[in-house]
Formats: sequence, C-alpha cells, structure tokens
Amino acid sequence: MVQVTEQPPGAGTRVLLSGNEAIARGAYEAGVRVAAGYPGTPATEVIEALARYPEVWVQWSTNEKVAVEVVIGASFAGARALAAMKHVGLNVAADPLLTFCYMPTNGGTVIVSADDPGMHSSQNEQDNRQYGRMARTPVLMPSDSAEARDFTRAAFDLSERFATPVILRSTTRLSHGRSPVTLGPRQEGPKPLRFERRPPDFVMLPAHARRRHPVVEERLDALRAYAEDCPLNRVEWRSTDLGFITGGVAYQYVKEAFPDASVLKLGLAYPIPRELIRRFAAGVRQLFVVEEGDPFWEELILAQGTGVLGQGVAGPQVFPRIGELSVGTVRHAAAHFLHRTVTTSTVAAIPAGSPPPPPTTPEPTSGAAPSPAPEPVGSAAELPGRPPVLCAGCPHRGVFYVLAKYHLITTGDIGCYTLGAAPPFHSIDTCTCMGSSIGHALGLEKALGPDFSRRAVAVIGDSTFVHSGITPLIDMVYNRGTGTVIILDNGTTAMTGHQGHPASGWDARHQPAPRLDLEALCRACGVNDVGVVDAYDLKAVEKAVKAALARPEPSVIIARRACVLLPGAAAPPIRFLPEKCIDCTACFRIGCPALEKDTGRGGKRPRLNEGLCTGCLMCVQLCKPGALVPPEEA
Ligand code: SF4
Ligand code: SF4
Repeated sequence: MVQVTEQPPGAGTRVLLSGNEAIARGAYEAGVRVAAGYPGTPATEVIEALARYPEVWVQWSTNEKVAVEVVIGASFAGARALAAMKHVGLNVAADPLLTFCYMPTNGGTVIVSADDPGMHSSQNEQDNRQYGRMARTPVLMPSDSAEARDFTRAAFDLSERFATPVILRSTTRLSHGRSPVTLGPRQEGPKPLRFERRPPDFVMLPAHARRRHPVVEERLDALRAYAEDCPLNRVEWRSTDLGFITGGVAYQYVKEAFPDASVLKLGLAYPIPRELIRRFAAGVRQLFVVEEGDPFWEELILAQGTGVLGQGVAGPQVFPRIGELSVGTVRHAAAHFLHRTVTTSTVAAIPAGSPPPPPTTPEPTSGAAPSPAPEPVGSAAELPGRPPVLCAGCPHRGVFYVLAKYHLITTGDIGCYTLGAAPPFHSIDTCTCMGSSIGHALGLEKALGPDFSRRAVAVIGDSTFVHSGITPLIDMVYNRGTGTVIILDNGTTAMTGHQGHPASGWDARHQPAPRLDLEALCRACGVNDVGVVDAYDLKAVEKAVKAALARPEPSVIIARRACVLLPGAAAPPIRFLPEKCIDCTACFRIGCPALEKDTGRGGKRPRLNEGLCTGCLMCVQLCKPGALVPPEEA
C-alpha cells in the first residue's frame, strides 16, 4: 500500500502538474473542504492528489452516487465540496446530480467528470457535456493544467454565484498530460460553516421542486447571458480565412495544426455564447467546430442557424466522430476537406459566417383563428388546500414525533416518510433522491465535525435502504462517520402501493420469498450498534434515539411496524372520553388525521374520527388524563 505522505510544494512555485493534479490544486486553493470520489481512469488522481492536503476531508466513496450525496451534504453546510469520477461514474451519480440542480447550492460544488474519448480504459465514449445540458448546469472545459487549476477555482465561484453545481469536464489527455502551473495560496471558502434549516430549498418534495424548476430555467437564461462575456471564453483573431470553434484539449490540437487560424475557444462548454458565436462566424470565411466526443457544440450552433463544419451533423463530415482527436487528425481532416472544397467547390454548401435566418411567424394552416385554450373546469384556488399527510396510524409518526420533540436535524429520503417534512413535525431537512439521506448526513458531519452527528439523524425506508441505502451505510462506516441511521421498516414498498422487496419476505406474486435480514446486514456493513424498536412505542423510540445519538460511532435503529394499510395491520379504533379531556392539545403532536380539531372548543379538543382511526395507540401514550383510551378500557 502506498502511503500518501508527500507534501505539495508551496504557493509561488512553478511545477509540472497533470491535469488531475491541477484540478486538485485548484480545489485546494479554492478552499475545498470535502472531496469524495470513486476511482476510475482517467479521474483517479484527482482524489489521490487532494489526499495530500490535510485541510481537506478526502474520501473514497463506495460509488459515485454516494460521493455526490456526500458532497451535497457538505454543500448544505456551506462548505466548498468536490466529487470526482470518470465519465461512466456520472451515470451512477446522475440521480442526485439532476435533483441537486434544483436546489440552490450553498457551498460551491464541483463535479469533475473525466471523459475517456478513445476508450483507453472504458466501456463507452459518452460525452458528459450532455449531462450539463440535461441538468441545466454549467460545464467548464480546461485545455491544459494551468487552466485546469484556474477553471476549478472559477467553478467554485460560479457555483456560488449562480447557486448551481458546476461540472468540470476533463478528457484523458488533459487528465494525464503534464504542463506548467504556478501554484497559488489557499483561500478559505466565503460561506460560514453551519447548517441552516431550509426545507423549501433542501427538500425536493414535489411542491418544492415545482417551485424550483422555473428558478432553474431562469438561472439557465442568466447563465446564457453570462456566457456571452464569460472570461473563460476567448476569441483569438488571426487569419479570417479559417475559423475554429473549439475547447478542451482539442484547442491545443487546433492551435498546433493551424497556428494562423482564428479561434473561438469555449472554456464554458455549456451553455454556449450564441451571440459571440454569431459574431465570430461572421468574421471568418470558413468555420469549423473541433470537439472531442459528441457533436455537442456543432448541434447547438447549427440549431441557432449558424453554418459550421464539424462531425457532419448537417453536412459533410470533416472530423471523426469516434475516438480521440490529435494534432494529426485535426490537421489532416481539415486540410483534406479544404482541398476537396477547392477542387469541387462544395464549400458553397456550407454558408460559413452567414447571418442566421430572420425569425419567422408560422402561418396558420387555415383561415380560422387559433382556438383559445379551454377554460378549466372549476378553479384550484376555490378548493381548500389538501397537502399530503402520513396516514392515520402510520408507524413513521412515532419516529417523527421524537425527532420533532428534540428538534433533531434530519436528513431525509424518498418515500412516504418524506411527508415528515409536513406539519406538525417539520422533521425532514434534506432530501435529494433514493438513498441520499445517509450520504448527506456523512457530508454534513465531515463539513461540520462529529458534534453535528450528536444532534442529527438520517432516516430511510426499508425498501429504499435495500435500493440504495446499503452503499452509503458502508461508506459511513468506512469513512469513520459517527451518524445515526433510522430505518423506517414498514415491511413493504408502501408509497407505490405495497410492493414486495428483498427485506419484506414476499415477492411480486405475493408468495413467500427469502427475507433479507436487515439487522444482520447492517452488522455486516460494520455497524456495531444495531437495534430494533417498535415504531409505535414512543418511549422505546425516544430511548433508542437518545442512546444512538450519544454514541461516537455509527448506529442503526430499525423502527419496525408494518404499514398500517397492509392487510391485518390495523386494530379497532380507540375511544375518546370527552369528560376526561382537559384541552391540553398534547395528542395533536402526533399529527394524526383521525384526531380532528373540535372547532367548537377553540380547536383545543380532539374529535375522534373512528372511521379513520387504526388503533395504533400512539395518541393514547400522549394523553396523560386518560381521555384517549384503548377500546377495551372504555
Ligand atoms: S390511535 Fe390515535 S394516533 Fe392512532 S390512528 Fe387512532 S387516533 Fe390516530
Ligand atoms: S391529549 Fe388527551 S386531554 Fe389533551 S387534548 Fe388530547 S384528548 Fe384531550
């Protein structure tokens, strides 16, 4: 095993760095606090190089998804954070990434994607600029190690300026090639490190996500405007006979192959500067796009009506669509095409530099005026709001009651229990995607220190835990986290309609199936402190949570009770004895919809809806005067 002991040289030193080392240096200088990744060529050395800086928490995660969830957690705390992976790793991490883009990034967050054109050690050649477009988030592409350092620093600033994660795309030659970099000093990130409860921003419930999507689109418009003057984009005017739009390592090839040509270098790979491209195109006689990977820019530029030559999306193919580029391929492909155009005059087919066509108004297909949109039947505004709530007798209520009672910070997950974010509990503080709660908890702890884990828990359902909670739990153990995880085990995949899963003990035909033992699994993941409580037993839940929080090691509490909607799970309704009620409202803290508010008593007294009550007895445990009692005691 190689020990990471080598200390990096100090600020002001000029050194030869690989692109990956330069990215790590840029992150260090930008004040990155938390970095996580999964090894994969050509990205591996980013994390390895960061491991030399003691100021940064650096970890290998169990996979790329967990790495991104950990850095999201750190970002919630205001810490600058970085996740690094090879291109296919971003497929694994796409789930958190695409929702994180809906959340206003707090601490600047950079996702390094090292793409592998030519598949030197990969199973495909995907171009992760496409993820930037899909996620509506900026993609930066440096061309050498000095830019890799500079662009990484800029990526953190951009992330905080536009409150979005930023993808830094490298490719193999940049990641592994070496060029000089003058090292700079470390600057601490500008944000104070603390966790601020902001559920509308950090919990992507549908209601919150719907509010965020327009903000994301507005942000993309602002980024498009920014792209026009972005200092990472650069026009180098030389001969106007030939113009190249390029970026990343392909820029180096163009410069070497055609040193006299004009170049528009796109450091901000997405979104593209449309007007800048138009002006550049208007200034050159023939315009080429040279890019490694997909015809990404070519398609976007053609879509805006500017003619270009590139990989042949809408015209002759000049540059290869497969494999890495090189100085030779760029030189020979362009020269061959130019020679061919001179001899055959097909250059006229590509109107390089021509202005875009004027906008046209579509003609109506008939003389009839377009039909107005149909009037909606009724108005949503006329209806009372009906926010989704946990069911009467839902076993998760007991846990959320305890979490709310102690004002614990709760990283949440996808499932029924996300409704713990709703009143009266307000108990979910973060939620990104399936399995994210445990990674978020670890990232927050790494940013804020282990004391944070003494006042925070991660909650996750049994089905979600099996889906994608095991890997972050292993991650928490491996990376010496000390958090508390509560598995809300209701024995089914409840939210989607009670499907089976490996820990339910029954299969898709509702036949008995081998049952995954969650306790044994958690112990096998390395958690020593694993306990099971009855989710209906409020005292037992409270005791287990307090004990787990006090332990300076990972703990798992399995809060078990079957989903109350499963056959046979509900019990007869309780009884309400109004003569014993003292209007203390304590029972309302369980938030059960079967306890309606008796408006005639100023809303302080419950009115039991026996049709809804499932006899869980949780409210009975809260009613000290004995006004709510089991049916046999009435
Ligand atoms: S026993 Fe109480 S908490 Fe449980 S379902 Fe009935 S009213 Fe709701
Ligand atoms: S807890 Fe019991 S006494 Fe208090 S309001 Fe509810 S029913 Fe009445």
